[in-house]
Amino acid sequence: MADTTLMSIPGQIDPVPVARDITPRADGRIDLIGLPKDRIRELFAEAGLDAKQAKLRAKQVFHWLYHRGVTDFAAMTDIAKTMRPWLAERFYIGRPDVVEAQHSTDGTRKWLLRTSDGHEFEMVFIPDADRGTLCVSSQVGCTLNCRFCHTGTMKLVRNLTPGEIVGQVLLARDSLGEWPKGSMAGLDEVEDSAEYTSDGRLLTNIVMMGMGEPLYNFDNVKGALKLVMDGDGLALSKRRITLSTSGVVPAMARCGEEIGVNLAVSLHAVTKEIRDEIVPLNKKYGIEELLQACADYPGASNARRITFEYVMLKDKNDSDEHAHELVRLLKQYDLPAKVNLIPFNPWPGAAYECSTPERVKRFSEIVFEHGISAPVRTPRGRDIDAACGQLKTAAEKKSRAQRDREAATAEATEAAAG
Ligand code: SAH
Ligand code: SF4
Repeated sequence: MADTTLMSIPGQIDPVPVARDITPRADGRIDLIGLPKDRIRELFAEAGLDAKQAKLRAKQVFHWLYHRGVTDFAAMTDIAKTMRPWLAERFYIGRPDVVEAQHSTDGTRKWLLRTSDGHEFEMVFIPDADRGTLCVSSQVGCTLNCRFCHTGTMKLVRNLTPGEIVGQVLLARDSLGEWPKGSMAGLDEVEDSAEYTSDGRLLTNIVMMGMGEPLYNFDNVKGALKLVMDGDGLALSKRRITLSTSGVVPAMARCGEEIGVNLAVSLHAVTKEIRDEIVPLNKKYGIEELLQACADYPGASNARRITFEYVMLKDKNDSDEHAHELVRLLKQYDLPAKVNLIPFNPWPGAAYECSTPERVKRFSEIVFEHGISAPVRTPRGRDIDAACGQLKTAAEKKSRAQRDREAATAEATEAAAG
């Protein structure tokens, strides 16, 4: 069992720096996944390599981990054969455990994953004609209790580590068979450099929209995304990564400056009264403050617009007046904006219903008529409950007795009502 006492949880307060170093393993080996290249170099030096060797080996190992996706030191063919067991005795290359993997008829895939200390979280892959988007989790549970969100009914168990966050991307690549050829088998063969291309890559985009509030786990999310963007490894462009926040205003500028990815904001309502109800964080950081932080977001422009997510809740936030007010606010703050209308995905015990398709369509038209793009997000993977927080529930239902199931539903109802 890993010791996660280093991972203090900021909870429903502003992000504070959390200690981030190595999560100890029972076998004493150090998991390299999630560590920056410089930290790997330091560890190699601490283990006895001289400075020059440590630097060279760190560079080689990093490439194998993030460019080739190997999970076994024995496969690192440019490292001396005698050195490979030396590395394997001291270090480890981890992946989250897969509890359950599901495949929807529409191609959406969903994984229920487990940390080494037994906490479950989720990851979803959504293929489209021109892209493949991986939806990554940042925390186990969430502290913020948005009333329409199933994850919000779960207690925050803990922040995910950088390794557990980037591990989701590595695992998706494993499952999709997307590493450059020759990475997993036939490793002693001389490799043809032409095989190193990423043509036909399925996983092209990442959204931090799984479980949790990424800006309440800032340092770990930043560490993981730096690894995802590193040109020597996964090399995904920051333009293909989007971080979604429910509106943690004090961390937004840092997100733009230090991570530099696209921003999505879970707005969901245009009046204080309604947003206070459905996104309780609004009581702390109100709509005006949030929109001002969006206007100031480093890197936002007409070419890189901010996405405003708006979940469609019947008779709650979906009237014509709400659509007009949304347009007014976005124009008032002169925001380079697009709006993403999300049909509410119901879960047992939820206090809301989804707006009718006609209402969603009309809302979308009003926003469009004022020159702001407002597509309706098509629900994906409905047959496998591929919405946040729902695979975990499904798995629990299967494995536990009826009374546990009822208790979970009662708890969800209570949380949604409270
Ligand atoms: N905590 C972050 C990111 C994770 S939630 C945030 O809130 O932005 C990702 C998106 O899914 C958010 O826009 C969230 O509001 C939305 N969402 C959560 N539960 C939903 C549900 N039941 N139906 C539709 N959208 C939901
Ligand atoms: Fe947390 Fe986002 Fe769900 Fe709100 S919508 S409870 S911030 S995961």
